[in-house]
Amino acid sequence: MGGDTNKAMWPAPSSAKYPQLASRPVGKQIHHIYRDRLGQFTSNGQYKQQSLLSKLYDARLSGEPHVKLSVWSAPGQTRPSFEEATKKSNEYRTARKGDAFGPSWTTHWFKLTFSLPHEWIYKPCVELHWDSNSEAMVWSEDGNPLQGLTGGGERNEWVIPKHFRDFDQEHTIYIEMACNGMFGNPSGGDTIQPPDPDRYFRLDEADLVVVNLEARALFYDFWIIGDAAREFPEDSWQEHQALQICNQIMDCFITGEGSRDCISECRDIAKKYLGEHIDSEKVYEHETSGVIVNAMGNCHIDTCWLWPWAETKRKVARSWSNQCDLLDRYPEHRFVASQAQQFKWLEKLYPYAWDRVKSHVKKGTFQTIGGSWVEHDTNMPSGESLVRQFLYGQRFFESRFGARCRTFWLPDTFGYSTQLPQLCRLAGMERFFTQKLSWNNINNFPHTTFNWVSLDGSQVICHMAPCETYTAEAHFGDVSRSVSQHKSMDQDATSLLPFGKGDGGGGPTFGMLEKLRRCRGLSNTVGLLPKVKIAETVDAFFDGIERKVATGETELVTWYGELYFELHRGTYTTQANNKRGNRKSEAMLHDIEYLATLATIQGDKKYAYPKKDLDTMWEDVLLCQFHDCLPGSAIEMCYRDSDEAYARVFKTGEKLLKGALGALGFEVDGKKDEKEMICDGGQKPIKGEKVTVQTLSWDRESLPCAATDAFSNISVASVKKLEDDAFELSNNDLRVVLKDGAITSLYDKRAKRELVPKGSTSNQLVIYDDKPLYWQAWDVELYHLRSRKELNPSNNSSSFISSSGPDEVAVTTHTRISEKSWIKTTVSLSAASTTGNKTSQVEVTAEVEWHETMKFLKVEFPTTITNTEASYETQFGIVRRPTHYNTSWDMAKFEVCCHKWADLSEHGYGISILNESKYGFATQGNVMRLSLLRAPKAPDAHADMGRHHMRWAILPHVGTVGEKTVRAGYEFNYPLRSFPHSDVKRIKNVMGAFKLSSDSDKSLVVDTVKRGEDDEDASNGDMPPREGRHVIVRVYDSLGGFSRGTVLFGPVKIARAWKCNILEDAGEEVEVEREGMEVELRAFEVASYKLELA
Ligand SMILES: [Zn+2]
Repeated sequence: MGGDTNKAMWPAPSSAKYPQLASRPVGKQIHHIYRDRLGQFTSNGQYKQQSLLSKLYDARLSGEPHVKLSVWSAPGQTRPSFEEATKKSNEYRTARKGDAFGPSWTTHWFKLTFSLPHEWIYKPCVELHWDSNSEAMVWSEDGNPLQGLTGGGERNEWVIPKHFRDFDQEHTIYIEMACNGMFGNPSGGDTIQPPDPDRYFRLDEADLVVVNLEARALFYDFWIIGDAAREFPEDSWQEHQALQICNQIMDCFITGEGSRDCISECRDIAKKYLGEHIDSEKVYEHETSGVIVNAMGNCHIDTCWLWPWAETKRKVARSWSNQCDLLDRYPEHRFVASQAQQFKWLEKLYPYAWDRVKSHVKKGTFQTIGGSWVEHDTNMPSGESLVRQFLYGQRFFESRFGARCRTFWLPDTFGYSTQLPQLCRLAGMERFFTQKLSWNNINNFPHTTFNWVSLDGSQVICHMAPCETYTAEAHFGDVSRSVSQHKSMDQDATSLLPFGKGDGGGGPTFGMLEKLRRCRGLSNTVGLLPKVKIAETVDAFFDGIERKVATGETELVTWYGELYFELHRGTYTTQANNKRGNRKSEAMLHDIEYLATLATIQGDKKYAYPKKDLDTMWEDVLLCQFHDCLPGSAIEMCYRDSDEAYARVFKTGEKLLKGALGALGFEVDGKKDEKEMICDGGQKPIKGEKVTVQTLSWDRESLPCAATDAFSNISVASVKKLEDDAFELSNNDLRVVLKDGAITSLYDKRAKRELVPKGSTSNQLVIYDDKPLYWQAWDVELYHLRSRKELNPSNNSSSFISSSGPDEVAVTTHTRISEKSWIKTTVSLSAASTTGNKTSQVEVTAEVEWHETMKFLKVEFPTTITNTEASYETQFGIVRRPTHYNTSWDMAKFEVCCHKWADLSEHGYGISILNESKYGFATQGNVMRLSLLRAPKAPDAHADMGRHHMRWAILPHVGTVGEKTVRAGYEFNYPLRSFPHSDVKRIKNVMGAFKLSSDSDKSLVVDTVKRGEDDEDASNGDMPPREGRHVIVRVYDSLGGFSRGTVLFGPVKIARAWKCNILEDAGEEVEVEREGMEVELRAFEVASYKLELA
């Protein structure tokens, strides 16, 4: 130390004199008391009239002469358009505040005429406050939808535009009141209970108000600083300072008696903590480095759930109109919306709102996202359905807004199929956003930002919002949880914060935007809270991560395979008829597209590809795959809608099938007898001029028909009654012993092995008590397995031989489930093939009358197979899951989703269970279990009640799971049809087109054959048609290994071919030969080819 330092140690005497004597005692604040006090200032309790809340409005008017109100009630449950509602003939009657309107689902149109007092004309903000405790929409007098209202104290304000504020003028608006809340009309205050049909809604507010903007601003200042006082750690100076600031604001307000001046003073105190710029978007310009939380406005609108599609159409208009208004008022605001279907509804029904949305899309403030038709379930739709969700979604966005989406946005679906990353990449999306796994009720998913990897190795960057919701209220806590719950901060600390009212729609409110400004102001000024901004785009957020990965700054963790959701496992089974509609529609569309493609190339010259009808069918099927529809978690009304949709699909589909077959020269009109037309399981001989219509890509052996001479290589099936009222069914391959409808022995004669463990019964019907913790339609819990009860016929005479060969033998059993419910099962065995190509299977057809309460019906197959893993068909592949409960992760998969089959194999041998409309399955040890029916009572009190038809089959096979199972699954779902044809040779040649050569690897499946989307003769006009005619062929490797094969062209002449993505953009050209095209696929690859016709 040098000599100079003495100066610093002895400061110069201060001019201010610190008082020598203490003036009064001062105590240390009791922290929690001064913190608890804050509630007085902004809450509705006993001090409301003395609090800030009493200062929010300077004036309020209601009733005549300033507000005149009349109403017209729409008949029944109709939802008339503006034009219909304002017809001169409609009688509008006087209405007033306090009146109640109903019942549930009715609509009431109000005509509201108002005039403002002179002194209000220059007030900075005048609002109409409307609260009918239900959803509503403000319309202009000339029929433009302006603003959606929520009701029940939420979003009840419409800012009266400046041009309405003139002297001595009356203005008229209309308000369309929907008698439902954001969450429909649940009874008894429990959201998921079935709708109360008789709910009435009271009109509580129809007022004009002058807003005290400074008081409103102080309300949000105080909210956020108060949160800092409550939520920051007590050992931080920021927490203590927040508490002091809040107490100073309250003291100042009390001293000034809530005057305008003192409110301004209070705001000045608040700005010491929040900074100067919190009243504008400028707050986000301060110190842009270190921003890690990217808020993004969104509003999750369930396309149906506790309300039907018809209401969703109005929700879309209400929600998005609100957002357009907020985008006008808040320059920083950004909003994303997904689901092409919802955009299409808006385009058709609300041209004014559509134009408003379009102009914001152009500005970049309203952003399209997701790239799919709806936010669909990903467990149950077929692979091709997933492809079409993207194809129809991306094409819609591109055709209307000039751009495709890069992020698959799916915050609220019940588990994620393992092939999604591959399909996303093939649909031009390399990013995926979701969050639902935060609902797992057993294990905590370990990542928030990671690479999610498909079966084939394809990857997408997946981000799961750390705030663990897609309906964040933009609270202080949402911002802080975006860091505290971020599990991938070793890799990247940034995150998305999707905020806005959701599920029933709504989206961000102005209050949320105000809160976010203050959160950021707080971070700028005192720090500690993570810095939040409103993201420019979701893509920009992902771009940031991608850049870091590209420069090697970070390396993302990987997650291979499905994102299994550890909840809502009942959704694989609930609403069985709806699921059956889905499966049957998918199969039907497959057949139509294949046959219609052939017909446009090789058929009647006048035949045109039925693109418009196919689009309508697909749009119906895709809509029904919405994540509350197909899973079975919607109200009864929604299933009436989906039943109608499937009925339309089947009706159009039958017409299209006939059209395509007719164009190919089949005589489809001759026979009306369906049985005659169908030959599956060899009920009817195929002879003479009849040709089997075979739409699958391999040579399919028609089951032998013993009565026909053409089949000499067959062995007949036989049946006999044994002692003890058991039956024996047998053919060359299998011997089945059946007692009371259950299989006591299943013996493989060739492999010489018994497949049913001694003392067990297979094809055993079992019933469980099924009361999940809360979400009835959604969940089944592990403990249901404790209530297992076998169903047995009440007496032995209920079984009888229903078919006695020689093509097929069958035994039918009638089993009583309860007083009201029964099941009739027919177990059948066909004559075995002696070619060795076809493995015998035991087939079961069931008819069920089901009237149970909270029960779960399954059918069980105990086996003599040993493995710790079972295999299940998933979209374009196989997913393997444990058969044991070693860890909590294994146990969580006690009920899983499968498609056409599940398989349990050991070295050298296995058993597959096939189905044609089921999705729920479980393999516990050596017991396989197919889930058949559930009986939840909420949100649909009548879910699954009534008659059901279903089929399943037991397929024992030599070797492990392989092409036998894959093909059997397809064949079980695509029954053969045969029709007369005048030129058998030619049509057989035509039907050979786009099938696999016999030397192709058996793992290959041609899943889809269709015409090119933009072909000049098959375009729907959404996108500009392109010259030329194309066939799209989609092939995949079904078994998980390198596969090579040849797709044959038959008589079709192909000029050139390209590998393409699922949006049909041509990529690399591939070589074509006269007879076909060689394909090479990596394990579980989905490959599409675009073939140009010569
Ligand atoms: Zn949802």
